[in-house]
Amino acid sequence: MNFICTRNKDEKVSFKDAVINGLSKQGGLYIPDNIPALNDSFFDGIESLKDEDIALHVLSPFVSESLTEKQLKQIISETLNFPTPVVPVTDQIGSLELFHGPTQAFKDIGARFMSRCLAHFHEGKEVVVLVATSGDTGSAVANGFFDVDGVTVKILFPKGKVSPYQEFQMTSLGKNIHAIEVNGTFDDCQALVKQAFNDTDLRNKVNISSANSINIARLLPQMLYYFFAYKQLKSKLKDKKLTVSVPCGNLGNLTAGIIAKRMGLPIHKFIAANNANDTFSNYLSSGIYQAKPSVSTHSNAMDVGAPSNFERLEHIYNHSVSDMQKDITSFTVNDEMTLKEISHCMAANNYLLDPHGAVGMLALKSALKEDEYGVFLETAHPQKFSEIIQKVLPNYKSETVDLKDCNKNSMDNNYAEFLEKITN
Ligand SMILES: *Cc1c(COP(=O)(O)O)cnc(C)c1O
Repeated sequence: MNFICTRNKDEKVSFKDAVINGLSKQGGLYIPDNIPALNDSFFDGIESLKDEDIALHVLSPFVSESLTEKQLKQIISETLNFPTPVVPVTDQIGSLELFHGPTQAFKDIGARFMSRCLAHFHEGKEVVVLVATSGDTGSAVANGFFDVDGVTVKILFPKGKVSPYQEFQMTSLGKNIHAIEVNGTFDDCQALVKQAFNDTDLRNKVNISSANSINIARLLPQMLYYFFAYKQLKSKLKDKKLTVSVPCGNLGNLTAGIIAKRMGLPIHKFIAANNANDTFSNYLSSGIYQAKPSVSTHSNAMDVGAPSNFERLEHIYNHSVSDMQKDITSFTVNDEMTLKEISHCMAANNYLLDPHGAVGMLALKSALKEDEYGVFLETAHPQKFSEIIQKVLPNYKSETVDLKDCNKNSMDNNYAEFLEKITN
């Protein structure tokens, strides 16, 4: 299989090149040139398959020209060494807990998979991985790439807009992991990274790669937990239809879910749950895409005003908003509603939501029909956001972190300064 660029269908590259390049030369995103359909017998017997076998079956068609089966198996086993359980919250709703990895957010899966792919592909050449983060990507990437030979990671995060726990996870590792705090917003960080990718001079001098969800090696493994969720729920669903609510930021998780559905996974409908950064919700209701500056919310990993994977979704749906609306509805949740839902869910169901999961849960409840079973993605561990949870559950306690021995660089929102940091 080849990967094509969302901005130029004639640019075809292998999985390997798509991973190494991150973003295409035109600034477009890579997307598989076709989405293979899995046959019915795979879904009929899915409950008796091991997660690793499901992963191999789902991912092989996308990567088999660039990785041997043995390499892929190895990468999968290192990626999936933590569980992704669906935990019942109400009779009709389950929480797909994606936070049991090392940095307690779903991004561990993509980051671990990608770092190991890159380690196979760089063949001795030094690679600089650039990543802009609103919080969780940075920690997952830092952890996934820590001490990987030949790779240096530069993480840009917006000053004062990540939680202390997230900052600790990015800045406490050291070695090949360089955290840079930017005097600006997440969008500024993302724009700096994009500018670096469009800088031919720089790309001629330095092998740069991206670890944001724009990298296809981050995106593809995110399909897996939708399959794992279905495997766990299949016997419970009976004749109910499966609806999945996805707390959205850059739309990577949602795009991965849509690709899984296109492969045949029986997900009836997706709900795109947005916080106040509702660019995608607005698009779905109006058909007009209007990026806007991001605003800070309690669910900070979703504070994205110009979601990068939108281009991929548009491509998959051939630019038809009406086709997209058949698969995806959306719902917007503000901070006040988020806090209320955290406290309500604890009181009613004795289940602790993190702010992102709370947005997903509320969006799901707003849309769930009687003939459906609903799952929301619980994308981060509540502990990462204890300061927010304590606003409504004052007795909630979590580990505290000490930032004083951590290492970070600071800079203004300035490309020249960033260049210096990349080349040094
Ligand atoms: C990154 C992140 C999101 C948003 O996911 P996207 O794939 O960027 O849409 C939601 N919740 C948490 C906790 C995250 O870390």
